[in-house]
Amino acid sequence: MDFIDLAAQQQRIRDRLDAAIAAVLDHGRYINGPEVQRFEDLLAAHVGATAVVGVSSGTDALVIAAMIRGVGPGDAVYVPTFTFAATAEAVALLGATPVFVDVDADTANISADSLRAAVEATPGDLRPVGVIPVDMFGLPADIDAVDRVASDHGLWVIADAAQSMGAALGGRPVGTLAAMTTTSFFPAKPLGCYGDGGAIFCMTEEDAVIARSLRVHGSGAHKYDTARIGLNGRLDTLQAAILIEKLAILDDEIIARQRIAGRYSQGLADVVTVPVVPEKETSAWAQYTVRLPRRDAVAAHLREAGVPTAVYYPAPLHRQSAYAGFPTPVPLTRAEALCGEVLSLPMHPYLSEADQDQVIEAVRSALDPT
Ligand SMILES: *Cc1c(COP(=O)(O)O)cnc(C)c1O
Repeated sequence: MDFIDLAAQQQRIRDRLDAAIAAVLDHGRYINGPEVQRFEDLLAAHVGATAVVGVSSGTDALVIAAMIRGVGPGDAVYVPTFTFAATAEAVALLGATPVFVDVDADTANISADSLRAAVEATPGDLRPVGVIPVDMFGLPADIDAVDRVASDHGLWVIADAAQSMGAALGGRPVGTLAAMTTTSFFPAKPLGCYGDGGAIFCMTEEDAVIARSLRVHGSGAHKYDTARIGLNGRLDTLQAAILIEKLAILDDEIIARQRIAGRYSQGLADVVTVPVVPEKETSAWAQYTVRLPRRDAVAAHLREAGVPTAVYYPAPLHRQSAYAGFPTPVPLTRAEALCGEVLSLPMHPYLSEADQDQVIEAVRSALDPT
């Protein structure tokens, strides 16, 4: 059993992938080939965004989005402490200060109450400018609650949707929930390519124009004009060609993930804390993550039973050496508790019912060996 089985997906669309890759090899436009814009247009239409700008990774998507908002030294940008390092890294790379915020215990997403408290308790030498909510494990953050705090305090919002392509909140697809949304096409994400890739979803054409400039060294209107300092942050043509084929099956795969998550929850809700999906939200189920006591012992038992698991995340960012020096104006106790209790179970759209049952049985017997 695989934790994430990319081979099963590849088998399903192998012929179309082979043809798409061969088409790129034939035309030879490895950089800025026609597949890049075709994919961007398809993805923008898929979610209903004004524009999608393909970039080199989810991390570069965050960096470029933050550059568009002018992030720099003296700025405080609020990020959940329970997330992958890239969320805070993009802020710190630009010389700004990530300020850590606690998450809700139920959803593992940023707590709007903790955000408000963190803004109000920010050290006086920092200027609160923005917030980056993260859609943890595929579940959209409570964007309306975040927006209320953001508008009260004049913050911009960049949604980090690296884990949630294909999810929605109140019928609004991820990619349209904030003025700018970033995502990752790292192979294991719900929409993944065969290398590194990412995208920025823009709700205004102005932001998209600057994003397209920043990803090519800040290029200006003319070939030899450089309008701003940018980076080399393009999405490869080959990855775009692969993503076109993977986007075509994304919705179908999300339905399969939802079915698996439902079966897991039915089989496990009486023995562990299963993931909560608030009313009106759908998750992309990047991970199916339960909470339980004696997590490490259960994980060891599962490994022996042939069930692979993962811990996202064993430590909150504010406890990691690179980020320990940044401000923590509010208690981060819920994130700290989660880090000791979370366990992600095998999740991918091609997980058989037999494998799902084996996972459920293994978890139950790990908790009650009698
Ligand atoms: C994966 C991930 C990223 C970074 O994406 P890369 O494509 O690996 O650079 C950023 N934020 C979150 C929450 C992620 O899970």
